[in-house]
Amino acid sequence: MQNNKPGKLFVYAGASGVGKGTIMKELLKSDSSIKLSVSATTRSPREGEVHGREYFFVTKEEFKQMINEDGFLEYAQYCDNFYGTPKAYVDEMLQKGYNVFLEIELQGAQNILKLRPDAVSIFILPPSVEELERRLRDRATETEDAINKRLAQAKVEMNHAKMYKYTVVNDDLNKAVKDVLEIVNKETK
Ligand code: 5GP
Repeated sequence: MQNNKPGKLFVYAGASGVGKGTIMKELLKSDSSIKLSVSATTRSPREGEVHGREYFFVTKEEFKQMINEDGFLEYAQYCDNFYGTPKAYVDEMLQKGYNVFLEIELQGAQNILKLRPDAVSIFILPPSVEELERRLRDRATETEDAINKRLAQAKVEMNHAKMYKYTVVNDDLNKAVKDVLEIVNKETK
């Protein structure tokens, strides 16, 4: 970006199955100031996911090595797997003036908000818990056991919605995208 102003850091969270990824794809198409930080994870790729695009898929040993090398801005365990935000990319993109989105779960969000109090936090809500469950089951990417763990975690995350500066309900995709873009505009003016 031809811009001397550093970008803003956004914490972008929401329960599993809420549609964060779908909204994110549209945000990236609509606003070239936005960059998504690609996390490292120990979970297995879902069908269609590409190493380096959705995630850096790594082994537990590789993940531990990145922790030891102080390579993460934050990391957390979520439903039996580890997820972490590689530090270097985030700082580089912020310096270049991009608005960097961290698509992370509750623990990571809490850590980032302590570490970088200037980060803007957004939480995506489903229209209802029933709808969230339906979406998670329709997606059919997880086992029954994993779906149940994710649903339990979703309820915990939704009970913390108040800790985020903004909440956006994903009832209608276009409306949710528009709402997030408005937040970005407002916060980066
Ligand atoms: P999924 O397995 O559905 O891709 O992700 C599970 C949860 O982990 C989601 O809430 C997602 O936002 C979160 N997540 C993804 N990357 C990171 C990360 O780098 N750090 C943290 N703390 N959570 C992450």
